[in-house]
Amino acid sequence: MVKAGSRKSNNNGPRFEDIGGMDDVLDHLEMEVIVPLLHPDLYPSLGLRATAGVLLHGPPGCGKTLLARAIANESGASFYKISAPELVSGVSGESEENIRELFSKANRTAPSIVFIDEIDAIASKRENLQREMEKRIVTQLMTCMDESHRTSKPDDALETTEMPNGKPGYVLVIGATNRPDALDPALRRPGRFDLEISLGAPNEDTRLKILSVLTRDKKLEGDFDLIKIARSTPGFVGADLDRLVNTAGGLAIRRVFYKRKLELPIESIQNKNWLKKAWTHEEH
Ligand code: ATP
Repeated sequence: MVKAGSRKSNNNGPRFEDIGGMDDVLDHLEMEVIVPLLHPDLYPSLGLRATAGVLLHGPPGCGKTLLARAIANESGASFYKISAPELVSGVSGESEENIRELFSKANRTAPSIVFIDEIDAIASKRENLQREMEKRIVTQLMTCMDESHRTSKPDDALETTEMPNGKPGYVLVIGATNRPDALDPALRRPGRFDLEISLGAPNEDTRLKILSVLTRDKKLEGDFDLIKIARSTPGFVGADLDRLVNTAGGLAIRRVFYKRKLELPIESIQNKNWLKKAWTHEEH
């Protein structure tokens, strides 16, 4: 089996190695989704059904989109992203058509991933949905998920969706939400979003791992104290830590420019251990 992280991606998008503090999640995903994406015929050949959908939930900025993109890059799958609120904003009938088109494209280019951001915007519990249109969108989404994936025949023999090249396809749907409880329970049953991953706000240890990844390619002095930063950033999610690192870098560049009155060639700034200097400066 090919280990995730060891394959070359055909673009420069994020890989598993770019995600900090999620080792257990990544190990789990390796077996549950990377293997079926890489070997779409494996599960059907054993009479098994691979994961149809993954529901990622957690606060904004905790890495849901990053994770979805990394799964695509690790597996080489085609990646289609839609933002659910945009879908509902269309005129009646348009949204269902968009969903059908999207899944049809995903089926044609399988193995593929359909990533639906803010899925609660279209897939809220149906009894809460006021508008007829929204109910139809949820139904359409479920139909597409059922059709584009291996489905159970009444006699429980497994059927595989066949792709134009005659090989079994695999379309993985990944939904992201900050409000998992608002989702229609029909979407959370096996065969639809049958794998749920909760990405909470990171604790100190996880923040340290995220910071290590985010500063991996930065020029830091050997004794740079990431532990201290991890300790002093409670409540920060990955997106906040990313912004912190970039802000620190920007400050370091600014300090060098202002203090040296723009005398320095750009190379000497690039060679500075800039993040450490910026952080130290902020503290005093
Ligand atoms: P939203 O709910 O607002 O869409 P999200 O959960 O999808 O947010 P992302 O967009 O994936 O969050 O994360 C934003 C950025 O934060 C990422 O591009 C990355 O730079 C950084 N980030 C988040 N989590 C991690 C992590 N675990 N490791 C490394 N970087 C991270």
